[in-house]
Amino acid sequence: MRMPPFTLHTPNNLAKALALAAELESFDWISGGTDLLPNYKWKLNPKPDVISLAKVQELTALSSTVIGAMVRIHDLCNNEDVHPLIRETAGTIASVMIRRSATVGGNICLDTRCYWFNQTEEWRRSIEWCHKCDCDTGADCRVIPNQNTLCVATYQADLAAAFIALDATIHLAGAAGARSMPFADFFELDGMTRNVLKPGELVTHVTLPDDAKNWQGAYQKLRLRETWDFPEAGVAAAWKIEGGKIAGLRVATTGCESIPGDHSDLAQDALVEWVGKDSIRALAEDVRKAVKPVSNTYFPPAYRRKMLRVLTRRALAPLEHL
Ligand SMILES: Cc1cc2nc3c(=O)[nH]c(=O)nc-3n(C[C@H](O)[C@H](O)[C@H](O)COP(=O)(O)OP(=O)(O)OC[C@H]3O[C@@H](n4cnc5c(N)ncnc54)[C@H](O)[C@@H]3O)c2cc1C
Ligand code: SF4
Repeated sequence: MRMPPFTLHTPNNLAKALALAAELESFDWISGGTDLLPNYKWKLNPKPDVISLAKVQELTALSSTVIGAMVRIHDLCNNEDVHPLIRETAGTIASVMIRRSATVGGNICLDTRCYWFNQTEEWRRSIEWCHKCDCDTGADCRVIPNQNTLCVATYQADLAAAFIALDATIHLAGAAGARSMPFADFFELDGMTRNVLKPGELVTHVTLPDDAKNWQGAYQKLRLRETWDFPEAGVAAAWKIEGGKIAGLRVATTGCESIPGDHSDLAQDALVEWVGKDSIRALAEDVRKAVKPVSNTYFPPAYRRKMLRVLTRRALAPLEHL
């Protein structure tokens, strides 16, 4: 498979990167390239220009509450200052080798995936393409046909669930200035637009609330091969214990829909009359009901939903006797 030609730009600070982005008509950001470059080789919507963030120092901050977009996943796993839930989740991403190149920003902005899309050019030509990469044919969506307005490709990145469970804030920058929002609000329910980034905007960093250190958590993931596969379902849970009681509980999912899911409202409801194991069972069932995967990844939707219940129970197991 040959890489399609593109012009690579390597600005050495954020201002230059944003100025360049405002000038170019059609481009992609590249950070670690572990997703973008394989997609380019498969001719999945490649652009004529690519802006590398490798030399943009402003994106590399890392502390207990600030995580820059260019921080490598490997460095997240190995930094004692990083919240244990983020470290645990990062350690399940891809393989050791990929984690050394892969970044936080690239993980958050990972392209959505679909059985009909993440295939070679020849394979996709043989089925006459699909809506997300229609090669100017106007091809239909293969998962939900006869609509061609919505792509339901699946968001299969891990970190988002942990960030939502820890009530993180995401920070963006563009030529028009910087803006921030609760992490879950970054995502848009469309497998093609994926998130609220405007043309020329990028993710600069993620921040955790000051009291994140008082929260514990767990991440559970379903995947085909434990060595490196994308999540077919992922559940992150975070909780705060005060005076021997659960003072806060948040649950988030990934790998099942076009966006990660924030189920903290369900978790809050469960806390009202918490009775340990039975409450966990009921909450796990509520999470299963709330998430609606479609048939476009390796495992069938019904199995992924059942596993969401199992993964939620496993993640919340430390709260069984509270
Ligand atoms: C074999 C294999 C297994 C994998 N397994 C997993 C897995 O288990 N879990 C998982 O989550 N991922 C997995 N991945 C996907 C990928 O490796 C990771 O998600 C990685 O973190 C992506 O980061 P990157 O820096 O390489 O992104 P890139 O490939 O550089 O970019 C990915 C996307 O994000 C955009 N982007 C990058 N940085 C920014 C930014 N700062 N602002 C705005 N947009 C940006 C790019 O334009 C591109 O669209 C796997 C990949 C492979 C090849
Ligand atoms: S969900 Fe439909 S449009 Fe989106 S990638 Fe899959 S087949 Fe294509």
